[in-house]
Amino acid sequence: MALRRKLIVGNWKMNGNLAALAELAPIAEAARAAAGVDVAVCPPFTLIAPAVARANGIAIGAQDVHAAASGAHTGCVSAAMLKEVHAQLVIVGHSERRAEQQESDAAVCAKAQAALAEGFQTIVCVGESAAEREAGRAVEVVSGQLAGSLPEEAHEGELVVAYEPIWAIGTGKVAIPADVAEMHAAIRAALVQRFGERGTRIRILYGGSVKADNAAELMRVPDVDGALVGGASLTAAQFVPIVEAAHG
Ligand code: PEP
Repeated sequence: MALRRKLIVGNWKMNGNLAALAELAPIAEAARAAAGVDVAVCPPFTLIAPAVARANGIAIGAQDVHAAASGAHTGCVSAAMLKEVHAQLVIVGHSERRAEQQESDAAVCAKAQAALAEGFQTIVCVGESAAEREAGRAVEVVSGQLAGSLPEEAHEGELVVAYEPIWAIGTGKVAIPADVAEMHAAIRAALVQRFGERGTRIRILYGGSVKADNAAELMRVPDVDGALVGGASLTAAQFVPIVEAAHG
């Protein structure tokens, strides 16, 4: 059996409505057929509860969480609240939140800690900008984000890392397999250095314009344990072939 099961996660971002939850049925059917692949969808907060009711075996997650358990944080949602509606995973540190909400590595780390402590599968996103890659600093930047964003202690929840080069998100530009391989190897080395044997079991996802026509090639790259998918997760027609590609 493979050391790490493939994990395909859809991030709906600020898209979708109750009618869009009809997409979950064919996705769940594909997930059942793709034995050995874990499948999850992260809709906006308002759709989590109805999505859970229609999940049929796929995991439903959130796109963010607050680091605190409760209190005066207008507009925010805690890990306990997400647990109450049966969300199973949480994304933290997405580059859109790092940019739009000015989330620092320390803030992302605190959120990850809160989610892991509640037992969530917790996806910590990292990734360099186009300028940083052009300057030859991609691995250095991502290593710094990992050092600052990953919580120290092992918790109940499962830690997952998503490598998402910012220039590849929503642009149609996908990182070439050689660059993905180099980055995922560097992330694996950092995880093993930091967590020892546990670091060999942490799944590393690739994200950034993953589509039906490039997913199979990306899934074959060493240390690519799945994908975080934005645009192509919004319809079953585009998402199901990615789940199938992970099945191999
Ligand atoms: C994302 O936002 O996590 C993402 C990878 O988006 P897209 O697949 O649309 O590039």
